[in-house]
Amino acid sequence: MTLQERYQDSRIDEAIAFAEKYHAGQNRLSGEPFINHPIAVAEIVADEGLSGDAVIAAILHDTIEDSECEYQDIEREFGQEIADMVAGLTKIAAVSPRKSSRHHRLASYRKLILAASEDARVLVIKLADRLHNMRTIQALPRARQQQFAQETMEIYAPLAHRLGMGKIKDELADRALAISDPQAYQEASKLRDSRFETRRRDLREEITRMLEEAAIKGEVQDRLKSRSSIANKLSTRPRSDIWDIIGIRILVDNIDDCYRVLGLIHNRWPPIPDRFKDWIAVPRANLYQSLHTTVMAEDKPVEVQIRTYAQHQIAEHGIAAHWLYKENLSEGGPKKTREYIAQTAAGQSSALSLDEAFEQLKKDVFADEIYVFSPKGDVKILPIGSCAIDFAYEVHSGLGDSCVGARVDGQLVPLTKPLRSGQVVEILRGEREGPARDWLPVVKTSKARSAIRHFHQKSLDQEQAELGRRRIREAAASAKLATIVSDEDLDRELKKAGLNPDETLREAARDKTRVKGIIRRVINSIAGSKKAVEKRRPTRKQTSGAAVSIEGMDGIDFRLAGCCSPEPGDPIAGFVSLSRGVIIHHRDCANLLAQKRRAKARVVKAQWRTGDSAYRSQVDVSYLDRPGLLQDIAAAVTSAGAELTELELKTSGQVVRGRLIATVISPEQSQTLRQGLLDIEGALTIYRHTPGKTKNK
Ligand code: MN
Repeated sequence: MTLQERYQDSRIDEAIAFAEKYHAGQNRLSGEPFINHPIAVAEIVADEGLSGDAVIAAILHDTIEDSECEYQDIEREFGQEIADMVAGLTKIAAVSPRKSSRHHRLASYRKLILAASEDARVLVIKLADRLHNMRTIQALPRARQQQFAQETMEIYAPLAHRLGMGKIKDELADRALAISDPQAYQEASKLRDSRFETRRRDLREEITRMLEEAAIKGEVQDRLKSRSSIANKLSTRPRSDIWDIIGIRILVDNIDDCYRVLGLIHNRWPPIPDRFKDWIAVPRANLYQSLHTTVMAEDKPVEVQIRTYAQHQIAEHGIAAHWLYKENLSEGGPKKTREYIAQTAAGQSSALSLDEAFEQLKKDVFADEIYVFSPKGDVKILPIGSCAIDFAYEVHSGLGDSCVGARVDGQLVPLTKPLRSGQVVEILRGEREGPARDWLPVVKTSKARSAIRHFHQKSLDQEQAELGRRRIREAAASAKLATIVSDEDLDRELKKAGLNPDETLREAARDKTRVKGIIRRVINSIAGSKKAVEKRRPTRKQTSGAAVSIEGMDGIDFRLAGCCSPEPGDPIAGFVSLSRGVIIHHRDCANLLAQKRRAKARVVKAQWRTGDSAYRSQVDVSYLDRPGLLQDIAAAVTSAGAELTELELKTSGQVVRGRLIATVISPEQSQTLRQGLLDIEGALTIYRHTPGKTKNK
């Protein structure tokens, strides 16, 4: 019977003529006309019970890939649904693994095929295509045969298995085994053919009699396990141990009968505990439903499967049976099918719908990643939830930066819409300044995330530099730094002071308190003669015990108190702190006096030692405000041979008041410094900073 006769669908002959036209002149490697292949594939698809649409798609499955035919040509003749199926098959063909593929690449190829199969029928056609190619594999060169066999074993047979297409799975696996391990195939065949013939027949006849006696209508089939599964057993067990390759299958009308037959079997032969499985009450994920038991018949195990005809359809054809039922439903199909559907509807079977099973399989396989395609068929693997922006960055960072829109499966969609496995994504580029900041929380790939972050980091840096520049220039203005007028001046002065302008600006933006220090360095550098400063720079030993001797405590650590800043020559005393050694105060310091009242015993006598250790001298200053004042102050410090450590000035009206700390090495130098500060034009008051004097002010 031809396909045309089977389906009573005139489009089938049209499809064959259409494919013949496009494949005209093409031959298979065996020399026969190419058209024989798609027709054979369509017949397998028909045997699996798929609809006329799927059969037509099977006839056309190689046209887009292997001929001048375009999607639109098919769409015009046969409509969008069929054209989409053919496009899906073309997509799968385009992503074939390279010849170098190894295990992990094969595993991801399996996912690719699944990803490209938006429609489960596409996957069934692909499996049929592979099955026919395996049936005609002899025409291929030896090396290609091996590669084909391996792909079949690792990719197609498992997919067929996962979809519950037992028949196709067995044939694919057996044919692959025959190529990849001819010897194992031969041994399995021998065992299969010789050993169990009589036993199979006897068991079948006995069970048939049992059903008749119990008045249960049904059919007893016997079967041998596939060669590939026997070969598996042979690889782990000696030949003499292998008995469990006979399967008896009993098909009955309804589920009640399944359990009645199970009772008869267990009554006749003892079941092996733990081998009984009730896949009717709890169907497998691929919808498989059946009772399984293994019994000891004449001391040899026999596996028995009991199920209804409808369940058998699903077991044999898996998800393909779905369309068989769909069609039969609308056309009032055969009785058994309608019964099955009625059972399902009545909740007697808890099976998932087959569409749901397909979705479940995809969910399992794509638990955390999706496979999407470029218009050219390149594949990108992305984390689940990724959107077109992720895809664009995965292709090229420039594409990500300039993407303005996306076409997914031909439809314009928002860039941020999550993608699904199998979609074809085309990125539309345009003029834009860069990625949007609000893409950040949307994207899923680290590539996209870091590119967007990087971009905005740059603009953030610029904003920061602006802020830093403003702060430093304001400080420079209030410090009357006459040499800084423009931004260029600032950069130049920062460089002269040995600072990196960019870093310094950012530093000032991050931390306001750094501005003072930056200005001080600029002033120091402007005040000039760095050499002179260095020559006379005080040695830095101020916190070593060298400068102060403390009675009865030689060599103990000490610090100069911040509150009264004692300087060499001042009368001093020490206070023994609990954790920081001895603190040296001015003898009149109010803090020291307070401590003395509380803990007299901890106040110790101390004296300055002669030497040139450096210390900090603190001076309170006030001046009339005028341009260039700061440079003059800095110059005074430098010319005294001291080093400016800290300068804090505040302007109020005409007067500038503040505090200057310089590092000096002797009371004499300290005195010179104060004199120098007093000599500056506009000086009002210059005082050593001491507690008493501060308070009096
Ligand atoms: Mn093909």
